[in-house]
Amino acid sequence: MHCPFCGANDTKVIDSRLVADGHQVRRRRQCLACNERYTTFETAELVMPRVVKTNGNRDPFNEEKLRGGIQRALEKRPVSTDDIERAINSIKSCLRATGEREVPSEMIGNLVMEALKELDKVAYIRFASVYRSFEDIREFGEEIAKLER
Ligand SMILES: [Zn+2]
Repeated sequence: MHCPFCGANDTKVIDSRLVADGHQVRRRRQCLACNERYTTFETAELVMPRVVKTNGNRDPFNEEKLRGGIQRALEKRPVSTDDIERAINSIKSCLRATGEREVPSEMIGNLVMEALKELDKVAYIRFASVYRSFEDIREFGEEIAKLER
């Protein structure tokens, strides 16, 4: 690719490694003309099913939105970025594995809940309380009791 600093066509890869559990390749590159270094990330582009919302609208799958929701639930919690990326990749694999061209948004919500339950119980409760909008405090208590079991 062209150097983002000077536009020269020739850059060389000086380091290449797998990140995010092997789902991404991180490459350090150096421009042969100006010697500036920069990083590129490479991921496979796989077709994701579209998302059917509860009102029937269809949206393209939005990974940033998914990541945003998970990060909000995990705010100030001791969970690493790597673990978050791993959870996102596993949610995406599950969605692709359905083989469907469209999936209901609830399915994504449920997969996020499952992932958070594994990662961090507090984040799980945070997410579940918003997502399921618990009807009353009793229902919320039951959900917490389930976790303590
Ligand atoms: Zn350059």
